[in-house]
Amino acid sequence: MIPLVKPYFPPREELMPALEEILYSGYVATGQPVFDFEDRFKVYIGNDNIISLHSGTDALHLAYILAGVKPGDEIISTPMTAEPTNTSIAMIGAKVVWGDVDPTNGLLDPKSVRSLITEKTKAIVMVHYAGMVCDMDEFTKISKEYNIPIIEDAAHAMGSKYNGKMTGCNSAYTIFSLQAIKHMTTVDGGFLAMRDGSQMDRARKLRWFGLSKDKSRLDNDITEVGYKYAMNNVNATIGLCQMKHLDEVIGTYIANGKYYDEALKNVPGIQMVRYNNNTECSYWLYTMKVERRDDFCKMMEANGIMASQLHHRSDTHSIFKESKRDLPGMEEWYANFVHIPCGWWVNEETRAKIVEVIKKGW
Ligand SMILES: *Cc1c(COP(=O)(O)O)cnc(C)c1O
Repeated sequence: MIPLVKPYFPPREELMPALEEILYSGYVATGQPVFDFEDRFKVYIGNDNIISLHSGTDALHLAYILAGVKPGDEIISTPMTAEPTNTSIAMIGAKVVWGDVDPTNGLLDPKSVRSLITEKTKAIVMVHYAGMVCDMDEFTKISKEYNIPIIEDAAHAMGSKYNGKMTGCNSAYTIFSLQAIKHMTTVDGGFLAMRDGSQMDRARKLRWFGLSKDKSRLDNDITEVGYKYAMNNVNATIGLCQMKHLDEVIGTYIANGKYYDEALKNVPGIQMVRYNNNTECSYWLYTMKVERRDDFCKMMEANGIMASQLHHRSDTHSIFKESKRDLPGMEEWYANFVHIPCGWWVNEETRAKIVEVIKKGW
């Protein structure tokens, strides 16, 4: 079966000696490899204000804290995502307010968000779902107009762009995940990118109990409680090896995505997604809408190709029952969207076969 997601690891000859060296180095906690990995990622994104963390969820939690969200405040979010985008809002004790999604692509709809802003709204979190970038033109306007910070959940969107600039440069906070199935994995890990460098020291303290790495442990005074969110040298060593292959790996997702954009556009029963203006998708999953989705997925499976929705909408969980509201855009989107394999393991022959199978109908 051709899977929808699959972790990429660098060749054994490269990765294993590096891992062996760090494991027996006597220093596996947070040290130089972590700082080196951050430096490499900063260059990749083109933003100096980036810290590494143990997960993308940690990055979301810290982004909400740094954005000044307090218990009882509201964050406008999307149900079309993986759970951590919203469970981390609950961790803060803030209320999730569900924005509706655009039924043509499943991305948070700026018109809906605008209509939900109140004096309690302290942040807007958007998810570049499956690598498709949200309507940043509109969201940037909204953020300026109401002075509300934007948090981009780019767990699916490493390597995507807005106005030619990498995601991670374009709003107050952006989070990335390095979890097993994302574009780049360190087994687990995450990054928090900030547009403004003024909160870097606070962010570094928050990831390490509230302690400052600039002073000795004996001279430290904790003034704000922090967490144990730092990345370790082992994960960072994997990351440093991954960085050498990142352009090629993400380049394959993007090339496959663009191939499908052309090859599937006039196929009966398929409705292509609409990409937002001035954005470039990084195709973590290939996304489209299909008629009779169950039949489509069964037909694909019979041909050895995985196809599914992969994510369950977040607004149906009991912990969010007080946030429940009607979301007509979400209903429309959720009824028909599907993903097909698009990642680094899909070569030219495989993608041609996938298109051929789809064109035969279902
Ligand atoms: C994976 C993911 C996260 C969280 O990342 P972890 O590194 O697993 O904590 C957050 N948001 C979305 C949309 C994700 O898919």
